[in-house]
Amino acid sequence: MSSPLRDPDVLVIGAGFAGLKAIVSMRASGHSVTALEAGDGVGGVWFWNRYPGARCDVESYDYSYRFSEELEQEWRWSERYATQPEILSYINHVADRFDLRDDIIFNQKMTDAVFNEAVKRWEVTTADGSQFSGRYLIMATGSLSAAKDVLLPGQDEFAGEIYWSSRWPKEGVDLTAKRVGIIGTGSSGMQMVPVVAQLCEHLTVFQRTPNYSIPAANGPVSDEEDAAVKASYRSRREAARNSPSGLNFLASGISALEVSDEEREAEFEKAWARYGFGFVLCFRDLITDEKANTYASDFIRRKIGEQVSDPEVRRHIVPANFPFGTKRPSVDANYYPTFNRPNVTLADLRDEPIDYLDKTGLATTSKHYDLDVLVFATGFDALTGSFLKPNIFGRGGRALRDHWANGPLTYLGLCSSGFPNMFIIAGPGSPSLLSNVMMSIEEGIDWLTEMIMFSESSGYAALEPTVDAETKWVQHVNEKADETLYPKVPSYYNGDNVPGKPRVFMPYTGGVRGYRRILERVAANGYEGMVFSK
Ligand code: NAP
Repeated sequence: MSSPLRDPDVLVIGAGFAGLKAIVSMRASGHSVTALEAGDGVGGVWFWNRYPGARCDVESYDYSYRFSEELEQEWRWSERYATQPEILSYINHVADRFDLRDDIIFNQKMTDAVFNEAVKRWEVTTADGSQFSGRYLIMATGSLSAAKDVLLPGQDEFAGEIYWSSRWPKEGVDLTAKRVGIIGTGSSGMQMVPVVAQLCEHLTVFQRTPNYSIPAANGPVSDEEDAAVKASYRSRREAARNSPSGLNFLASGISALEVSDEEREAEFEKAWARYGFGFVLCFRDLITDEKANTYASDFIRRKIGEQVSDPEVRRHIVPANFPFGTKRPSVDANYYPTFNRPNVTLADLRDEPIDYLDKTGLATTSKHYDLDVLVFATGFDALTGSFLKPNIFGRGGRALRDHWANGPLTYLGLCSSGFPNMFIIAGPGSPSLLSNVMMSIEEGIDWLTEMIMFSESSGYAALEPTVDAETKWVQHVNEKADETLYPKVPSYYNGDNVPGKPRVFMPYTGGVRGYRRILERVAANGYEGMVFSK
């Protein structure tokens, strides 16, 4: 095994799904590549988010690489929705199978990246002071990887244990006979609650905004199902590429407003029973039309309510006042019925906000909860956090933080003006979190690789988008978002979950297929919007 280069052609930051794919593509295009990874293993979010119950809410066969047909054929998923340990095994398998570790340096967290204009190279410093450089810098740092900082009054006083869902200890946590509190009821909290409730003595769930969740309908994958997928994997991938979301669901062309009540109800029942996250696609206008959405939201509220036996808990847990899907919905396994257990309490922080932590637990404005363990499942500085936490300086010493001070500015969600040869994967302005992110990662990296090859074969040393192209792209992203209900609702898509973050809708709502068509057109027109220099 050779040591990774300190000054390769390409520096990749992160060895999660995007980082590994970047290594594969950069190698294949004849570049030397080194990936710097903050953790001591591959996997990115799947390396860190080891909390009880963690699993993917995109189907395993779709949440996987498509770059190698052999890999597709040899890997055997055991469940429709894979657990975190199974996904981590898969990522490790990929790293081993393609010898990717040869090009990864672990325990290297990038703190600074500076573009040296004289030599046209990115100079990178990591937390331990190590230095690296690369002609290209690929930020494969993830859209949901920078944990949101939450510091409660008196947090240092608490004598119990504190954990974060996004940094769960590798060795696990013994919750037996413990009084546990979980703050947050997004996807992480909702996945954790049913599992933790079975492990601990008592669980208190501190909920601020009740969210919508659809049952996962998870289950083991039979040999017959596995064989059927593998026999037609190419057409499954093509269908996903040509869908709005990159999931294995084709969007309905039908409006929820143009069918009878009975037909609508029947379609909702079908989606509830099987579609999981794909529920949003069961009619074409659930995310664009308030009336259509109200039908769906009412249906889901009813279904949620039916799972909860205590009317008082039901009153607090059923989401209200915002349309389904506009804040990222969850896909759960037994979340709501967990509140029928005698050892589970719901604390509604809208009625009783958190006041402080003390030695023995958490006090809201109306009650003190004695706790041995407190878990923060409070989410992420989504889409921009992992790019803005490090110090990144582009041409003329301009900080990315300043360039994005009023919201992220990208061209196609892949690059930013003034930051030559720096590329971001599944970043703001790409379909990213509104898509099967595996699809967005692979499509984005394939396209970038082609563009780099075009640039080099034409004798150029640097490339970046023009200010004009970037401005028009951001405008287009906003215009597309304004055709939907997303901007109207507080969510991390809009930056609302992080105090002080500019309110801008960040992902691209034009769909996986629509986005790819734009990428293809840009490439066919000689990478219009990019400026290449010798
Ligand atoms: P999240 O969706 O942002 O949820 C954070 C939760 O914490 C919300 O309920 C939020 O309440 C609450 N919260 C935040 N700050 C708080 C505070 N200071 N006091 C009280 N409550 C607070 O984060 P997440 O659950 O980690 O999920 C993030 C995303 O990761 C998901 O949407 C999904 O895209 C991804 N994820 C995916 C999977 C998967 O299956 N693939 C699994 C887990 C996560 P408010 O809503 O009121 O802000």
